[in-house]
Amino acid sequence: MLVMAINSTGLQPDREANDNRFHSSASLAPDVVEAFASTMLRCVECAALYPAIEAGKPPRYRCDCGAVLDVEQEFRLPQRADRARQAARDVDSMLYGLGSEIDAGTPSAGSPWRQIFDERAATPPIWSISSDQMLLDHSGVWRYRELILPAPERYVVSRPEGNTSLYPVGIENCVASRSGHRQIGVFAGLERFYLKHEGENPTGSFKDRGMTVGVTMAHLLGSKAVACASTGNTSASLASYAAQAGMEGIVFLPSGNVSAGKLAQSLAYGARTVQIDGDFDDAMRLVEQVCNELGIYLLNSLNPFRVEGQKAIGFELLQQLDWQVPDWLVLPAGNLGNTSAIGKAFRQAYELSLISHLPRFAAIQAEGASPFYRSFKNGFKQRETMQADTVATAIRIGDPVSYARARRVIEETNGVVESVTDAEILAAKAVIDRSGIGCEPASAATLAGVRKLVAQGVIKRDDKVVGILTGNLLKDSKTGIPQAVSGGSVKATIEAVRSALAE
Ligand SMILES: [Zn+2]
Repeated sequence: MLVMAINSTGLQPDREANDNRFHSSASLAPDVVEAFASTMLRCVECAALYPAIEAGKPPRYRCDCGAVLDVEQEFRLPQRADRARQAARDVDSMLYGLGSEIDAGTPSAGSPWRQIFDERAATPPIWSISSDQMLLDHSGVWRYRELILPAPERYVVSRPEGNTSLYPVGIENCVASRSGHRQIGVFAGLERFYLKHEGENPTGSFKDRGMTVGVTMAHLLGSKAVACASTGNTSASLASYAAQAGMEGIVFLPSGNVSAGKLAQSLAYGARTVQIDGDFDDAMRLVEQVCNELGIYLLNSLNPFRVEGQKAIGFELLQQLDWQVPDWLVLPAGNLGNTSAIGKAFRQAYELSLISHLPRFAAIQAEGASPFYRSFKNGFKQRETMQADTVATAIRIGDPVSYARARRVIEETNGVVESVTDAEILAAKAVIDRSGIGCEPASAATLAGVRKLVAQGVIKRDDKVVGILTGNLLKDSKTGIPQAVSGGSVKATIEAVRSALAE
């Protein structure tokens, strides 16, 4: 509740009074101003509307009422020049024997958007000769750029990211060569089940999809530094993208509450860490304040543009399913950013006729960090908060930032919120790990939740279900991982090895 109590108007800086090295004095470039002319930020609580960027003013992260903001933009099909470049590329493709049908005058099937995205996905880049635009087409975020952010291409900071696997793991849809993966479908009790592994992003978590957009915003606003308060996946991603863009990355940490392992990525990528004598809420409050005062771009979960990048999880999985909508979309729920983002992606895909209907959403919380589940159980009459505690640290959140946005997604998709115990999470993680796929503990909430909902009959055995895994196995090398047998070494003889393996 501390975070919500901060009134942004009280923190607006008098920038002229600050002579500092972080903020660029350059005004916004004309192409940036033009590109963002029809992009707005709307308050999720009071519906107040603000311009997405304003020359001479600091970036806005909150409504004047204190609530978070949601990006609203008009979607425009790529203009003629862009399509002409596309056509030229198609000619190149034909020279390489990858003929495209677009120039043959074939009518497009379905939405024109679908044709654009499918064309981009169908042509792999040739790294030595491809243009920047073709490399953007290869990003699992920027392939959908017209639906993500209207940034002029020269500002985009991309690894590229995305293009994560969608594993068929159901009893029926898993082929014989993947019999290990089928154990996941057996455990869940599902015939047609897919897992989309966002831990296959460049820094090992889904955070890269939002961060490429957030750091791109920092770049086009002329910021020289970006910051967040986090001890996990967000800071690792921020540090990586800041380093790529030549910006300073700053990570605020609550002192005495940080594990060295989780920090390793951020430190390796060269982020500056600031330890705060206080708890995580103190770090959150201070990073917001210092960003406003020093002109550092804030990339906390408050930042509305990160959600826009995370929408690409939804677009990409739909494209991988040939735009066929699953019956269910199941995902771990902590701060509720992904529930909001993927829900928004499906809503927009529906509005653009990319898909014919919406799937039902199932958001899965850890029992010890289940304020959204408790709110759902009381019919969303009251917003619950709690002191959070679970082994799934990535979803250990007692007062989720994206509550209002996620509630809308559950309500408009006839969705459900379920909670699972730490023991259920670790049992599911062991199944995912032993299948050969692997994930961090929070990700396993997805499978634990699917199993529970199938057992309850909420999800039917023959429903088509997509589950989201959010982080790489190596993000947490201790929790739920079998310990190596101590004193297990054997003599370096074939007899000793033979008898060891016979045990
Ligand atoms: Zn408001």
